[in-house]
This record gives sequence, structure tokens and C-alpha cells, in this order.
Amino acid sequence: MSDPTTPIAWGIQLAKLWLVSGQGFPVRVKEIALEVTRQKFADPVGCILPHGITGIDGMLSKRRRNNDWCISYDENVSVPGRINFTIAHELGHYLLHRKQRDAFECGQAQMMDYDSNDSRHIESEANIFASYLLMPRNDFETQIVGHNLSFELLGHCANRYQTSLMLICIEN
Ligand SMILES: [Zn+2]
Repeated sequence: MSDPTTPIAWGIQLAKLWLVSGQGFPVRVKEIALEVTRQKFADPVGCILPHGITGIDGMLSKRRRNNDWCISYDENVSVPGRINFTIAHELGHYLLHRKQRDAFECGQAQMMDYDSNDSRHIESEANIFASYLLMPRNDFETQIVGHNLSFELLGHCANRYQTSLMLICIEN
């Protein structure tokens, strides 16, 4: 089977892999990123670590010496689910954009404001990938069908998928 080429197809495929292996929600992105890239690619994601740099939610950097990539994240963010989303976003850059650059630095500004034309496209793609990986659409629809949209319902979903309310609002 050839690899997907779009953020949506990648998100759907990896979410399926996770659920087919008998795992439930939330999708634990860290495990998927390490395992799947090691099986599929010669330059896998070799490490996922906190970096302690305020203002940069996540980074993806190539490590030439190891011929692999490192995802790092700000472990001090206070929004629940934010770290899982950040790792998923960086995994999106890895799958979709790593041939274009050797390093990605993503803060709120880059991920949500789409300031520069240059980065708007790839940031949006990484967010779409993260959304489909963390919140498979058929499961999401099952959660919300028959309910009025409320903060309580959104809170339930944020908890189920370990992702941020903001993401649920943006991507749906
Ligand atoms: Zn990004």
C-alpha cells in the first residue's frame, strides 16, 4: 500500500491503525509517531522530548548525525490536551513537509494566526492532519449526534480525544 499524500488521508490512516490495534481514545500520538515512522521510513522520528522553551509550542528538527528527526514540545502549556495536539501537529510536518525544510518551529502565532503567506499552507495542513488523527470524524459524529452544542459537550470531546477545545472549534 502506498503512503498517503494529503493531511486528511494520513490522519485517517494513522487513526485507523491505532484503533485497529485495539487501542481506544485518546489516540496517544507519541507512541504512534515513534512506532510508525520507525517501521516506514529510513529517517524516522527518533525522539519526542519536552524542550522548556516558552513561546514555542512545538518543534521538529532534523538530526543529521543520527539521520532522524526530533519532535520537542513546551511541557508547561496549561491548556489540557495541548501537548497531544502539538505532537500531532509536528508529526504532520514530518509526514508532509520534511523534504521542504530541516527545521520547523511552531508557536500559537504560526499555528493559528497564519501570519505569513509562506507558512500559512503548511501550518494549516499540519492542523488538519492533527485533527483527523486525534478526532476521527465518524467517532466525533457519534459523540455529538442528538446533543445540543454546548461547552459541556465540547469539554467531553476535548477530554475524550485529549485535544484542545480550540482545535475542535476550528476544525469543525
Ligand atoms: Zn507548525
